[in-house]
Amino acid sequence: MKNIFIRRKHILKIYNSLKKKKELFSPLHKNYVGIYVCGPTVYDYLHLGNYRTFIIFDVIVRYFIHLGYKVRYVRNITDVGHLENNEFEEDKILKKSIIEGIEPMEIVNKYTTSFHNSLNFLNLLNPNIEPIATGHIIEQIDMIKKLVKKKLAYIVNGSIYFDINKYIKLYNYGVLSNNKIDNLYTSDTFYNKEKKNSKDFCLWKKANYNHIMNWTSPWGKGFPGWHIECTAMSIKYLGSYFDIHGGGIDLKFPHHECELAQSNSIYNTNNSSARYWMHSNMLTIDGYKMSKSKGNFLKLQDIIKEYTNNCSNIFKFFILKSHYRSIINFSKIDFKKSEKSYLNIIRSLEILNNFTPTKNTQDNFFNTNDWIIKCYKSINDDFNIPLLISNLFEASNLIKRSLLKINKDNFFLLKKYMNYFFFDILGFKKDNSLKRSNNKSKKLDIIIKKLIIIRKEMRKNKEWYYSDKIRKELLNIGININDDKLQ
Ligand code: AMP
Ligand code: ZN
Repeated sequence: MKNIFIRRKHILKIYNSLKKKKELFSPLHKNYVGIYVCGPTVYDYLHLGNYRTFIIFDVIVRYFIHLGYKVRYVRNITDVGHLENNEFEEDKILKKSIIEGIEPMEIVNKYTTSFHNSLNFLNLLNPNIEPIATGHIIEQIDMIKKLVKKKLAYIVNGSIYFDINKYIKLYNYGVLSNNKIDNLYTSDTFYNKEKKNSKDFCLWKKANYNHIMNWTSPWGKGFPGWHIECTAMSIKYLGSYFDIHGGGIDLKFPHHECELAQSNSIYNTNNSSARYWMHSNMLTIDGYKMSKSKGNFLKLQDIIKEYTNNCSNIFKFFILKSHYRSIINFSKIDFKKSEKSYLNIIRSLEILNNFTPTKNTQDNFFNTNDWIIKCYKSINDDFNIPLLISNLFEASNLIKRSLLKINKDNFFLLKKYMNYFFFDILGFKKDNSLKRSNNKSKKLDIIIKKLIIIRKEMRKNKEWYYSDKIRKELLNIGININDDKLQ
């Protein structure tokens, strides 16, 4: 039992994308965890796939907090950025501002507010720091200057490019994604004549006369490349080497590979940025990655329309019942199934939280300590939340069938840890989640009262067999009928 309470002594294993294996988690600074998660580009409403990634990292952060670490969770907002492979040579925000006929910063405000509201709706923790890319232009320029000075970046006509050929002579390239230089992102279709090599990526882009999002730099007016933003913001708030860098698996290449190349170059090492890289897998629909550009996406609002009450918890349950490194395919049938399973657990939690054991039974048929250890083991094995959920189901079945038989000490322990796992670590919302279940519970109360009246009639008619059966069934769900009082 002792290990359960010394939380930081938990042996947590994390799949490290950098090493391609599960590794024991050990923080760089005792008792502290620094984590950077790539945030959204705020040019539109986010889709369910984006929220999958943020839900996963919310659980990861919550678990570190639960274990007693002091966590610094940094998640950025990308509100500007030149993207490779973009034939328009302009960022998504500017493009959207032209479509909507409003200022780029109005676009940023509109979709950042919507993002924040949705995170709130999903009960996700706020990051400790939420840096905004346009608020860190000075830091980005400073880094680019360093890269130019080291001759790992070159200037052409007011734009700066990262020199991949030079980099691979000094450092390892492709360690994160296992991608070889020949596969590097830029396709010939969008070949940019300014680049020495089509594999080089942009650090700073010269602003054309009509590009209204621009900043003064030593190289003239321009705007930053996407990859340099995250390097500048993660280093500023977490240092040159921190614990965890996370994001969706689609960011592993080229975004994270480029981030790593930039910070390695700045710090003259192969070992900068993060010790553990964590990548969550994609949400698909009909087998294809849910994405804005493909148009095959659903927004949170789309599912709210169908499930008004505890939609946020059901969506979270739908996401968390699959492992974070597996693909999830969205289907209405599976979503419906999740609702059923979720209500199953929430109902048992309600019974558990409203039950007061009166007697201390000697029955030790359920070992709560073993169950708690099993639950922690699931999380400690690279956040195996689906296994944790199956353990919660085991407890949930027990609560519904045999709550009265549980030893009193075991009962209080079970209650405490069921709540820890469900609300503190998985982050389900308390009030909303119980709402629908409460409505059902009110109906259930009426049915139970009627059943008790019917049983009373039966006893009057000496129908002992069924009246006893009803009494036993009610006892199993924690309702003890005292026949002396009934007479
Ligand atoms: P973006 O705004 O495109 O940079 O995406 C924000 C976050 O959502 C990133 O961490 C992406 O990896 C993640 N993401 C994008 N599409 C999906 C998807 N279909 N499933 C899961 N995560 C996604
Ligand atoms: Zn990033």
